[in-house]
Amino acid sequence: MKTIQIHGKEFEVSITEEKIQQAVQRVANDLNRDLRGKEVVFLPILNGAFMFASDIFRRIEFDARISFLKTESYTGTSSTGHITQVIGLNENIKGKTVVILEDIIDSGLTMENVIEQVRAGEPAEIKIATFLFKPDAFVKDFHIDYIALKIPNDFIVGYGLDYDGFGRNYRDIYTVKSDKFLNLLIFGAPGAGKGTQSKQIIERYNLVHLSTGDILRAEIEQNSRIGQLAKRYMTNGGFVPDEIVLSMIMLKIMENKGASGFIFDGFPRTVEQARRIDALMREESMPISAMIALEVGTEELKRRLVERGKTGRRADDTPDIIENRIKIYHEKTAPVKEYYREQGKLREVHGEGAIEDIFRNIEGIIENL
Ligand code: AMP
Repeated sequence: MKTIQIHGKEFEVSITEEKIQQAVQRVANDLNRDLRGKEVVFLPILNGAFMFASDIFRRIEFDARISFLKTESYTGTSSTGHITQVIGLNENIKGKTVVILEDIIDSGLTMENVIEQVRAGEPAEIKIATFLFKPDAFVKDFHIDYIALKIPNDFIVGYGLDYDGFGRNYRDIYTVKSDKFLNLLIFGAPGAGKGTQSKQIIERYNLVHLSTGDILRAEIEQNSRIGQLAKRYMTNGGFVPDEIVLSMIMLKIMENKGASGFIFDGFPRTVEQARRIDALMREESMPISAMIALEVGTEELKRRLVERGKTGRRADDTPDIIENRIKIYHEKTAPVKEYYREQGKLREVHGEGAIEDIFRNIEGIIENL
């Protein structure tokens, strides 16, 4: 796989030049079919759209003008919010068909502003043609007439699009090489050994350990607002609400953005948490690599937890609460495993026996990812 380096980050090809050219040709064909015979002005938006505009325009088979726009962003008053100002709109577009050419539409915020300002020039009609469209990020409702390619919500460079000024010259589209990151989920019932194995994994692979249980216990210790809230749920072994856990974990991820990966321990514990963390990590170009599930029989789980309870380290290691935690695990958490099985990311490990032997099996799995 062809890779490139920009500002020290490694990118790999995600859309080849051939695919790009085929998609651009399709859009050009549609424009030729729909707009022939009209008075057309193409308005590409600089800088990103210059490649797309050039490839489109050279395929246009009727007489048309082209005039380049640029946008400037600034923050307005609290009522106007973020504003995009269009500059360079000096072509007379009154009564004409304008085709705004954009490299990428994600949220749609910028384009909405552009449309509004182009409309002030009183064209007969406005058509929008974008090279890329991110349906998952789009929050507006204007119609996009021509889309060359739909893509997931990943960060990309190439074919006019840049990463901090560079990368526009590449003929292919690239995304951040994801296998530089190792994002593991360590999974299992309470007492399966998630914390114990996590310790070994982080030492070996230099990952940031994010245990929601540990984070919550620290919040309780500090008697923070989250801690006070969480305590109510944790004392009987119930789950802390998804929203609290998710905002807490997102904060930790953002605090550790330079990390070479994470190991999530005790999280996700519900399918909703799994969906949300998947979406976030994909957006950050750090998708989950695998779920390592530790398999331990119920009797052994109970024995371990009761044993740990004797040390008094955890308030929830008492027989009644242990029963409840295992019950909730089967009800709410076990489906998370199936969720990752469906994605082909589940790796099951026998979790009984010597700690070192279990770790060696986990190591084997990670090396093969
Ligand atoms: P653990 O240390 O992972 O066994 O977690 C201890 C307790 O913290 C659990 O019994 C829950 O009450 C709470 N907790 C930890 N992680 C989560 C999570 N991902 N979602 C909801 N509650 C959690």
